[in-house]
Amino acid sequence: MINKGSKLYSIFTGSCPKCHEESMYLNPNPYVLRDTLKIGEKCSHCQTKYRLEPSFFFGSMYVSYGVGIAFSVAAFIISYFFLNSSLMTAFIAITVTLIVFMPIIMRVSRTIWINMFIHYDKDLAQKNPKKR
Ligand SMILES: [Zn+2]
Repeated sequence: MINKGSKLYSIFTGSCPKCHEESMYLNPNPYVLRDTLKIGEKCSHCQTKYRLEPSFFFGSMYVSYGVGIAFSVAAFIISYFFLNSSLMTAFIAITVTLIVFMPIIMRVSRTIWINMFIHYDKDLAQKNPKKR
């Protein structure tokens, strides 16, 4: 459904925005908190540099507000409308959701951010077939 070449593929897998061939993140598990935001220098497949400038990922903070709100709305709808919880419980559900999904929210935000600047390059992905 979500194929290589679509931005959603990169966003959901955290893969290189240019070639989609490998993960940008050094540790595949976002819940190893000391590694959550560790991103490699560049893609070993297509040599794309992940940091366009030193403070590049600062802007992903703005994206994370949006992603956080999306998770909050989902948590609210599920608990309030589907589980018929009280408003108070729904707000607790939102808080818990934000805490539990924080590592994923942070990664997804960074991946969305970099995908706004670097776009998939089909030729590049095909020209350099995977070495592994
Ligand atoms: Zn790449």
